[in-house]
Amino acid sequence: MKIAFIGLGNMGAPMATNLVKAGHEVGVFDLVDSAMKALEAAGAQACASAQSAASGAEVIISMLPAGQHVRRLYLGRDESPGLFDALEGKPLIIDASTISPDDARFVGDAAAKRGLTYLDAPVSGGVGGAQAGTLTFIVGGDAAGFEQAKPVLEGMGKNIFHAGGIGAGQVAKICNNMLLGILMSGTAEALGLGVKNGLDPAVLSEIMKQSSGGNWALNVYNPWPGVMEGSAASRDYQGGFLTDLMAKDLGLAWELALGSKATVPMGSQARNLFALHAAQGNGQLDFSSIQKLYRAGEED
Ligand code: NAD
Repeated sequence: MKIAFIGLGNMGAPMATNLVKAGHEVGVFDLVDSAMKALEAAGAQACASAQSAASGAEVIISMLPAGQHVRRLYLGRDESPGLFDALEGKPLIIDASTISPDDARFVGDAAAKRGLTYLDAPVSGGVGGAQAGTLTFIVGGDAAGFEQAKPVLEGMGKNIFHAGGIGAGQVAKICNNMLLGILMSGTAEALGLGVKNGLDPAVLSEIMKQSSGGNWALNVYNPWPGVMEGSAASRDYQGGFLTDLMAKDLGLAWELALGSKATVPMGSQARNLFALHAAQGNGQLDFSSIQKLYRAGEED
């Protein structure tokens, strides 16, 4: 299949690489040149623009930071036209970024007006899951579009869920990430408390993993440096899932709660923690660096 892949960051690069490995013809575009060079070396075709990557593609996949980037890519801004107005055929549009359900519906409506099928398909599983091709895709959109997308998504993921109509994928993803933000900050808090009271973080982690506090952060994403080989914490919190992106997702959860009159006291607390952590200059570190908040004054 001929696929255009736009956005080759921490997630997009390994996802596009897996599509090449699955035998697809993949044209890629990113604003950062070095990101495209790496994909070219993996067998993709580097393109000069999103339009040129999309030319003749049967499927377009985007993996961008936030809603404004997705709106701008597809709908354009000011004088620059969006991808929807530059398309010749009717490729399937799959946006895998985490954005607000309203943004997804807005872009989806614009797609429908042009006779295009749009799916929101945010992912879970982190950079490790993207590299291993074991991501979970949480898809919103019509059933026919979902069936069309499935074989492509299976080249990058293991669990492919249909959550409902356009925007439903984003709602489910936002709920998941709100819980993840709560779990990561709670895990960091428990480890901080234990270490301040003389425990070895690796021993405490093992105990909690096998006890009722066990959770995904402890199992695959331990925030304490050196406890887990290969974790972001063990490489100075470089790469992974940026604090800025977690703060964005918790903001999306907050907006969703306001709009639906849901109460999210734990999610609000997590949002404040990650926003504070980002404001202290940690926005470009992996989100598990929230551990640093709980290590302040450690040397005293
Ligand atoms: P990232 O910041 O590493 O990568 C984003 C990429 O998009 C960058 O390379 C950037 O240059 C590129 N980009 C931005 N605007 C562009 C444009 N107009 N055209 C082409 N390229 C453009 O982000 P990421 O970690 O890869 O995350 C992408 C999305 O996936 C986000 O919405 C994030 O919330 C979500 N997500 C991330 C993870 C994770 O673990 N990193 C996990 C699940 C979901």
